[in-house]
Amino acid sequence: MTTIKLHNTKTRQKEVFEPLDPQNVRMYVCGPTVYDRAHLGNARPVVVFDILFRLLRKVYGADHVTYARNFTDVDDKINARAAESGRPIGDITAETTQWFLDDMGELGALEPTHMPRATQYIPQMVAMIEDLIGKGHAYAAEGHVLFSVESWPQGYGKLSGRSIDDMIAGARVEVAPYKKNPMDFVLWKPSSDDLPGWDSPWGRGRPGWHIECSAMSLDLLGESFDIHGGGNDLMFPHHENEVAQSCCAHGEDSFAQVWMHNEMLQVEGKKMSKSLGNFFTVRDLLDQGYPGEVIRMVFLSTHYRKPMDWTDKKAREAQATLRKWRALTAGIEPAPNAAAAVLEALSDDLNTAGAVAELHKLATSGDAAELLASARMMGLLTDELGGWAAGPDVDLSEFEAQLFAARQAAMESKDFAEVDRLKTAFVDAGLEVRMSKTGVELVPGPDFDADKLEEL
Ligand code: AMP
Ligand code: ZN
Repeated sequence: MTTIKLHNTKTRQKEVFEPLDPQNVRMYVCGPTVYDRAHLGNARPVVVFDILFRLLRKVYGADHVTYARNFTDVDDKINARAAESGRPIGDITAETTQWFLDDMGELGALEPTHMPRATQYIPQMVAMIEDLIGKGHAYAAEGHVLFSVESWPQGYGKLSGRSIDDMIAGARVEVAPYKKNPMDFVLWKPSSDDLPGWDSPWGRGRPGWHIECSAMSLDLLGESFDIHGGGNDLMFPHHENEVAQSCCAHGEDSFAQVWMHNEMLQVEGKKMSKSLGNFFTVRDLLDQGYPGEVIRMVFLSTHYRKPMDWTDKKAREAQATLRKWRALTAGIEPAPNAAAAVLEALSDDLNTAGAVAELHKLATSGDAAELLASARMMGLLTDELGGWAAGPDVDLSEFEAQLFAARQAAMESKDFAEVDRLKTAFVDAGLEVRMSKTGVELVPGPDFDADKLEEL
C-alpha cells in the first residue's frame, strides 16, 4: 500500500500517516461562514483538502473515507449582513451556501461526504457545553458560558505553540467582566429578541463560533478521528479552542490525530481577506473568463504550506499548458492507473507542485494515456471542467507573445503599424484581443478560424 506522509502541526513534523481505522479514514475541514461569495483565498483550503480527499480515496478505497466540512450559518457577520440588507438570515445563508457549492464545483472540488450546518447541531452543542460544565472545564456567567483555559493548563496553547501568559500579554481586547481569565472563550452567549436564538439551560442564546466544529465532528466522525484541516489563520484561536473543548470532554488523546494547515493566498504580499478589502471572489475570476480548471491548476502549482500569490501570468501559463494537454489527450482512453511518480509526489505531504512537474514530463514523453489518468487523479483534464477548451485545439500562446512583443517595440518606436496589423488579423480570425499592461490574451470566439492564423 502507498505510504502517505503528512506534516502534522501538532508535532511540527512530517509523519507517516496511519489511520485509526483504515476501513474508515476520517477528515474534518473548517468550512466557510456563509454571508458572502467565497474569495479566492477561501478556495485554497477547498482545493488542497480536495486533493487529500482524492488521495485517501485512491489509497484506502472510495468507500473507506469520510470527509466532513461545515457551513457556519450562525455568526454575527451574518446577523450584520441581514440587518443592513433587510433580508431574512435564512435567505442569505441559503443563497451563499449554494453559491459556495457552485463556485467550488467549478474548481473541480468533490463534495465532502457530510456538509453539516451549525444551525442543525444546536442540541448537540448544548449537550457538549453541559458536559464541559459538569467536568469543571466551563462556567456560566451572566447568560454566557465560558470555557476556562486554566482548567486545562497542560494542553491549552500547545497546538499553536503559545503559553497562556503570552496570550494574555498579546491580547489587546477589552476583557469582559464576567470572564475569570481574559483568555476564557465563549461557548454560549445570550441573544436579544432581534437576533437568532435557541432556548438553553442558560436562557435564550446562540453558540460561540468554536463549539460547532467540536460538536459536529463528534457526531459525524466520533471522539477521535484522523485529520483536521483548515487555513493557518484558524490555528489560533479557533483550532486551539476546538482542541480544548473536545479533549476536555473526551480525553487528552482524543480528537484529531493529524492537524494540517494551508498557508495563505496573498495579494501583494498580504493575506487576501475580507477585512483587508484586498480580495476578489472566485466568481469574479470565473466571470472574467478564467476557467475553473485554470484556477485549480494555479493552486496546485504551489505547495500548500507555502504562501502563494495569484498572478495573471501564472493563470495564462496554466491555461496554455492545459490547452496543450487537452489537445494531447483528446480522444484517448486514460491508463488504468495514475503514474507512480505522481502518486508518490502527492503522498509526500501533498507535493502538488512536484506532481504537476511529473505531468509535464508525461506530456513531453508523449505518454498521453498516463498523463490523462494522472491528471484526473488530481481533478484536472476531466470532462466536467473541459467546457472552456471545447473550441478548436490550437495553441495561441505564440501569437499572444508575438503581439505582446510588437506592442513593447511600438512603445519605443511609436510606430504601431505592426500592432494594428496583428490585431486586425486576429480579429479577422475570430479572436477577441484582450490587452493589459502585463500581457495579451487571445480568446477564441464562436467564429474562430485557426486556418486564418497560418499566414502570420
Ligand atoms: P472564513 O470564512 O474566513 O472562516 O474562511 C474559510 C476558510 O478559508 C478557512 O479554512 C480559512 O483558513 C481559509 N482562508 C481564509 N482566507 C484565506 C487566504 N487568504 N488564503 C488561504 N486560505 C484562507
Ligand atoms: Zn472549525
